[in-house]
Amino acid sequence: MIELHDSLTRDRIPPVYDWPYNLLREIRRIFPIRTCSKCSKTKPETPEFFYWHPTRHRFEASCKICTSAREKVYNRESYHVRRAYELSDKGKATASRKNAKFRNAHPDRTKAAQKAWRDENQEVNSQRLKDWRAENPAKVRRYCRQRYAIKKQAMPSWAKQGYIDLFYKLAVIEAARIGAAVEVDHIVPLQSDLVCGLHCEDNLQLLTRKVNMSKGNRLNEVPSYAN
Ligand SMILES: [Zn+2]
Repeated sequence: MIELHDSLTRDRIPPVYDWPYNLLREIRRIFPIRTCSKCSKTKPETPEFFYWHPTRHRFEASCKICTSAREKVYNRESYHVRRAYELSDKGKATASRKNAKFRNAHPDRTKAAQKAWRDENQEVNSQRLKDWRAENPAKVRRYCRQRYAIKKQAMPSWAKQGYIDLFYKLAVIEAARIGAAVEVDHIVPLQSDLVCGLHCEDNLQLLTRKVNMSKGNRLNEVPSYAN
């Protein structure tokens, strides 16, 4: 069977439509073959031709190689048409809709990708944050008020405001000394899923902004300031 198949695919064999009808009928019954409309080579249907109607076993007129080549040319020539659509308002709307759908479906992958981008483009990211703050002063103020309220609520009656102020003053001095932004961090976060820390002198430490941002709202494995 295999030898028959191989010999039939050789170029020297004439196209199928030149073969004696009864021979063709018998071969086709045992082993479906087809002659490509493009390269006129006779090949077995099943691995060599694309289906265009899988459920009814109908095949493309040209073989897989010729079909692929044709589609490659088509794609290359129609690139500008697709690019124009991508740049149009309608295309942009479609893309953003699809992207939003993907982000909703894969929150973990989205978060990881966003973090990777931020790590790679730290300057761009910080500039964008700066621009956003300049454009949205009301939101910034609201956020600050919110932080203030949380701190006030988390501040026990025995906390020493003087010591707390010292941390903030120390942060300014230290920032000037090392030439990088230093922030006062709550060792146990004020708000997290597991625990809520206090706004008091025992729960404060100095961290560079870079380290603090990487720490986020997490409690475990707090990097030390010295590193
Ligand atoms: Zn072909």
